[in-house]
Amino acid sequence: MSRPPRTLITGGAGFIGSHLCERFLAEGHEVICMDNFITGSPDNIAHLIGHERFHFIQHDVTNFIYVEGPLDYVLHFASPASPVDYLKYPIQTLKVGALGTHKALGLAKAKGARFLLASTSEVYGDPLVHPQPEDYWGNVNPVGLRGVYDEAKRFAEAMTMAYHRYHGVDVRIVRIFNTYGPRMRLDDGRALPTFMTQALKGEPLTVYGDGSQTRSFQYIDDLVEGIYRLLMSDYVGPVNIGNPEEISILEFAREIIELTGSKSEIVFKPLPADDPKVRQPDISLARRVLGWEPRVSRREGLRRTLEYFKQRLGLEAAHSS
Ligand code: NAD
Ligand code: UDP
Repeated sequence: MSRPPRTLITGGAGFIGSHLCERFLAEGHEVICMDNFITGSPDNIAHLIGHERFHFIQHDVTNFIYVEGPLDYVLHFASPASPVDYLKYPIQTLKVGALGTHKALGLAKAKGARFLLASTSEVYGDPLVHPQPEDYWGNVNPVGLRGVYDEAKRFAEAMTMAYHRYHGVDVRIVRIFNTYGPRMRLDDGRALPTFMTQALKGEPLTVYGDGSQTRSFQYIDDLVEGIYRLLMSDYVGPVNIGNPEEISILEFAREIIELTGSKSEIVFKPLPADDPKVRQPDISLARRVLGWEPRVSRREGLRRTLEYFKQRLGLEAAHSS
């Protein structure tokens, strides 16, 4: 190819999207980042503005998407992603999962581009199979509060496969499990940013329920590597990308207190509705077809993330004083 590959990343100004923009620029791609900043921020991509192969378009992808010139890859990452965000924006979440995915697929079809959907472990809902392999169909409450996110992503997967089967669009689906790292919003309500912010401020850590529910947290760099490998592979169909190291939320809160050297206590708050009791990826498929597995331990990932949070809290204190 005489020109660099051209890649559109919707939701590119978000936590994961901004790391993807960096990775694809590093791989020599021309990157078009599209975002409406509903949950993302210009700060996440400020360092990329001015890069000769980086372009930003402010646009709500639930409306017709226009991109001039050829496209080789379309990565659809636009969607509120934390429970606090998608409960605040339930209709926008459903719309970006349904209409936004439709528009992004239509664009990929028109340009002959390969399409990758950011799906989620939430398609498994409150799982009755543990750990979760890709062929488990899930246990989702469609009318529950989390249903707006879970069902939007399930619809998005169905739409993606329909475009593949009926229009021949080349597609990939990544089912992302809980991911953390620099550029998470401090106030996005997810366990890690909440606990870290509370621990660094010396406030009590708010564990929901009795904290026995489990999650498996993966560091952002491992996810980005998995996504890149999946996109470049020839595997069509959902692939779990996550770190199988499982931990209870209470244990996780204790780990963050220890890591930060905080004197914070732990307080217990009511468990939100439909909060999954367990979650752990079965990554046999990713190991087999992508030769991928996570490399960053939780201790190391948390240490790197702590640096970011310290910096942000320092900056925010400076701004507000
Ligand atoms: P994020 O909120 O930081 O990023 C999402 C981005 O999408 C934001 O920048 C937001 O402004 C943008 N966006 C939302 N609706 C849009 C619209 N209609 N038009 C244009 N832009 C829009 O969240 P994230 O954690 O980076 O998640 C990114 C993707 O990964 C999401 O699709 C999410 O469902 C998926 N995912 C994330 C996780 C995780 O642990 N972070 C887990 C599973 C799946
Ligand atoms: N959680 C918690 N305290 C908080 C925020 C979250 O105990 O302040 C719990 C939440 O109820 C869930 C787990 O931590 O059981 C992970 O929540 P998160 O929002 O990070 O991700 P998700 O529920 O989408 O996996």
